Amino acid sequence: MKNMSIKNKVTIYYSVVLIAVAAILVAAFLVTMDYQTKSAAKSNLIKTVQSSFEDIEHEHGELDIDDDFDVYKKGAALSVYSNKGKLLRGTVPGSFPNNIELKSDSFREITSGDEKYIVYDLYTKYGNGNGGVWVRGVYNMDASVMAGKSIMIFMLMILPVILLLAILFGRRITKKSFRPIAEITSAADDISGENDFVKRLPLGESKDELYYLTVTLNQMMDRLEKAFDSEKQFSSDVSHELRTPVSVVLAECEYILEENRSQEQYKESIENIRKQCVKTMSLIQQLLQLSRTMDKGSALEKEEFDLSSLCVSVIDELSYVANEKNVKLEGEIDKGIIYDGDQTMIMRLIVNLITNGIKYSRNTAAGGSYVRLSLGAGAPGHGPVIIVEDNGIGIKSEDLSGIFDRFYKADKSRSEDGNSFGLGLSMAKWIAEAHGGDIAAESTPGKGSKFTVRL
Ligand code: ADP
Repeated sequence: MKNMSIKNKVTIYYSVVLIAVAAILVAAFLVTMDYQTKSAAKSNLIKTVQSSFEDIEHEHGELDIDDDFDVYKKGAALSVYSNKGKLLRGTVPGSFPNNIELKSDSFREITSGDEKYIVYDLYTKYGNGNGGVWVRGVYNMDASVMAGKSIMIFMLMILPVILLLAILFGRRITKKSFRPIAEITSAADDISGENDFVKRLPLGESKDELYYLTVTLNQMMDRLEKAFDSEKQFSSDVSHELRTPVSVVLAECEYILEENRSQEQYKESIENIRKQCVKTMSLIQQLLQLSRTMDKGSALEKEEFDLSSLCVSVIDELSYVANEKNVKLEGEIDKGIIYDGDQTMIMRLIVNLITNGIKYSRNTAAGGSYVRLSLGAGAPGHGPVIIVEDNGIGIKSEDLSGIFDRFYKADKSRSEDGNSFGLGLSMAKWIAEAHGGDIAAESTPGKGSKFTVRL
């Protein structure tokens, strides 16, 4: 049963149910019919016996039974007895036992051999003495039993045919309903066999459960395709980013090994090699950070912490870096905001946004560049809002949609500092979303940018 197809299971289940229902119906029908025929025969017999007294008269103690007294009336055999039990008129069926004593107004069932009877006796007194007369009615149940039997035989013959037809018809419907599953399975086989993630499962015509299941599976395939593409893109970006410094290192090595170089040339080449190694190391570190962040998945180490204090300490830590670049790091932090989240991750998010603000400042010698971190409690029922704003170089509108993608660099020249790989914002976005929030960017080139994180 375990390994049976759903199609067969459904067929077996409803066949069993159908047979059980049919059996219950037949049994109920027979019981009701038996009861009905018995009670009809009973009331008929009683009425017949009672009405037979109309043909029995008595005058001065003498009994007078009409000549037209029917000894067979409405299927019942009637017999008249004197008060001493002597048969005066009528008869009882041949096989009816004659030792059944007379009992007034009593109704009994008598079985004799194969025959089944119901019998009803009634005694009526007449005159003042002890004169009286009995009438016995006997009804042979065989006739009604036979009718019941023939109905039952008919039902037993016709029912299996009806059941068989119902099962066959039901199986056809089940088969037809499950046909799309076979098509979906074979399409899914094709997709996984050929690793063709562009293919989609065929949608049925009727909008039933299978239709919506297929739509959901196709949507899942869309997401998988996107994820695979993005992974592919990621691997190719990583190899590209790694290849560039390694090629420079190789070229420098070849240059200094080619022939004897001056002390100055060696120094310059080695300095270049060191720079490329620092860059590679920084990339590897950022990649490690990214993979650790994303590996955490839903298992964020959540705890309640003071987000306001965290923002203040991040500003403290980064002030030195900002000062070096002649950027003023400001804070507008609402106090006492408690948040339940992964503190390390939230800190990484804020650090990434602030360092970007510092990195992409306008480098004006006269100063005036700033990065402002604001923290507010957010609307009721929503989490806190973190805003990082700067008056830096800004982002072109065509770049705004891409900056959250991995390895996306809007300003290539600025990103040549050996530390910019286009990973910081994608990590920030991931962290915000892992906390059930989102991140949005607004920017005017030449004026500045504003990143809003709603947790
Ligand atoms: P990167 O390591 O290159 O800074 P990010 O993912 O942090 O990578 O940012 C992606 C790109 O978005 C950057 O290359 C830069 O061009 C742009 N960007 C990010 N933050 C700012 C900002 N505050 N001002 C201007 N441009 C920004």
